[in-house]
This record gives sequence, C-alpha cells and structure tokens, in this order.
Amino acid sequence: MSFFTRCARIVGLLALGSAWLSGPVFAAPCLTVTLTGTQGGPPVFNGQAGAGTLVQYGDDSDNCRATQLQFDTGRGTTQQLSKLRVPVGKLNAIFYSHMHSDHTEGLSDLLQLRWHFNSGGPKVDVVCAADTPSFAGHVISCEKFTQHIGDALIQSGEIAQRLSENPKRLPEGPAGLVNLTRFEASAEPVTVWQQGDVKVSAITSRHIAGHASYRVDTPAGSVVIGGDAGNDKPKPPRDSSTSKQVETLAAGADIIVHSTIHPVMGPDFDSGFPPPIFFRQSTAADLGAMAERSGASHLMLTHLIPPLGAKKQGPYPIPNGPLTKASYIEATTGAGYSGKTIVGTDLESITLKAAP
Ligand SMILES: [Zn+2]
Repeated sequence: MSFFTRCARIVGLLALGSAWLSGPVFAAPCLTVTLTGTQGGPPVFNGQAGAGTLVQYGDDSDNCRATQLQFDTGRGTTQQLSKLRVPVGKLNAIFYSHMHSDHTEGLSDLLQLRWHFNSGGPKVDVVCAADTPSFAGHVISCEKFTQHIGDALIQSGEIAQRLSENPKRLPEGPAGLVNLTRFEASAEPVTVWQQGDVKVSAITSRHIAGHASYRVDTPAGSVVIGGDAGNDKPKPPRDSSTSKQVETLAAGADIIVHSTIHPVMGPDFDSGFPPPIFFRQSTAADLGAMAERSGASHLMLTHLIPPLGAKKQGPYPIPNGPLTKASYIEATTGAGYSGKTIVGTDLESITLKAAP
C-alpha cells in the first residue's frame, strides 16, 4: 500500500491554534489525536509536559469533541488541556498504561479541579489494569492509586476547609469522582470501554507489572496507544525491541502513538544509560519497522528518550550531541517505514475524517 493511498482518508494535519477548516457540507465523523505531553520518563526538560494523549471523536458539528478520552496524565496535563480548551469536567474517560509517576501524576491535579468545579458529577471513568503482582513481590495497584488520590489534601485539612465553604461538594474528596473499571491481563485485545461509535480495547504488554496498551476504533479511523511497551524478551537476542501484543493491536490501525528511545542510548554507544532501561523501551527503528508491518499511515513518536535538543537524558550525556527530529526520522525510515513519522512535541495533533 502506497503512502498516498494510506493517507487518502487524512484530510487535516492541524497545528495548535489553527482554525477548524470552514465550509463542511455534511456532518462527517472525525477523530483527533493530540499529544498532551511528550516528555520521556521522570526528568524535566524545557517545560515539556509529562506523557499523555488526548483522543477526541465527533463530527463537524462539534469539532470532533463529542467523546474525549485521555490516555495517561503526566505532569502538566491540565494546563495542556486548557490550551486545547478542553475542560477537565468534559473528559469522558481516562486510561492508564501503567503506574509510573511520569504517566500518572497529573491525575491529582485533574481530579482536584474536577472536585472543585464539577463535584455534582458526572463521575469520570478511569480504566486500567487490575492489581498485578510483580516478580519482585510488590503489587502494582491502579485501584489504590485512585482511591487515595485525594489523601494528601484530606490530611492537610484542605478538603474539610473547602467543604465548609461549599457543603455540596462530595464529602469523600476527589477520589469520590472516579468510576473505576479494572480489566484482567490479556494477551488478546479485550474491549474495556465503549460509548456509541467509539470502542476502546486493551492488551497486556511488557514494561512494568500491569502495563497495558490501547486501541481506539471509530468510524473516522483508529489509533493505537502503545504506552511504554517493549518486547516480552527483556534483552537481546530477540527479533525486535517492540511488543508483539502492540503489533497485534496495531494491525490495520491508522495511527500508532508510542513511547520511543533512540538507538544512540543503547549500550553500543557510551552514554552510560542503564542497559535494562534501554532494553525495556521500543527503539525508533524497531517502531518504524513495526508501523510498516501494521500498515499505519502515521507513526507518532512520543515520550522521547532523549528529548529533542537535550544534551543529557537525566544525568546521562547524549553521544555525539543533541538529537533533532531528523535523527528520529532517519531511524524509522532507515528501518523501512514508508508512512509519515511525527516526532512528537507537546500538542502535536492529527485529525482523520471519514470519507464521504
Ligand atoms: Zn514512561
């Protein structure tokens, strides 16, 4: 399939702030995928927001905003949503790839905002893996994370103080606004959320215990959000650093959004970056090869390790200096990807529209 054939359904690649294309003559279904944060891992760099992807579905009449789904809520998610003019009270559901702070820490802010201004509801669906024991003996628990999301604010006395000002707010604090859906680990896609024409499925993938990847299917197109998934084999020799489960999920999808590490951080170079952390991420080259096999028209690289222009990833220097967008694109195209690679910066967005 040629690149142009793949792109036939794509009518808009909308930059932040661009106006909606005028003159629609019918209510064509549309799907917009926006990277709310592209920072890779816990470091801070240049004001980038933490990992997150907003998926919006609707039609011309509502600017693709009938259904709004947030995948991961890294640092600064609420500010990013405000730039997109998406009030946190209008999110229908939040999905988690895994319980690492760079993917989760924005939930406290998001739910406190929602409790402050939307305490009367509706509750927001939070979808994530059921409690998962790890090989090391600890248990990863999205349920406990959400149950205790307001604890610090309760302990500080803030929740009681604000309730005294407005007793209509939920007495249990922000956690009371969560409608939690947990799903069991599955190596085959299972439907975990559905509303109207929008279906979200999940598959278990490897990173830490309880890691999951998602696919959203709509009449306007489909997007896979891989999260930080890597191959089930934790290190070479293996045929790829990418996840076979994500590849299953991505078959025939239009867009793949995936966390990315550049091959230059590998042990063949001398950054000093810990090999086990390098090996548990998917490389840009292997993602390009996977996207080609999947037939995806767009590969959105996010959670970039290292960030564009950075001299270091945390304490580790980048061999041969800072990377550019071209450095990542060379990796995907060099591995044979013929679609469009988007090297993610915050608020980069793609809109797909159903053919009339
Ligand atoms: Zn991460």
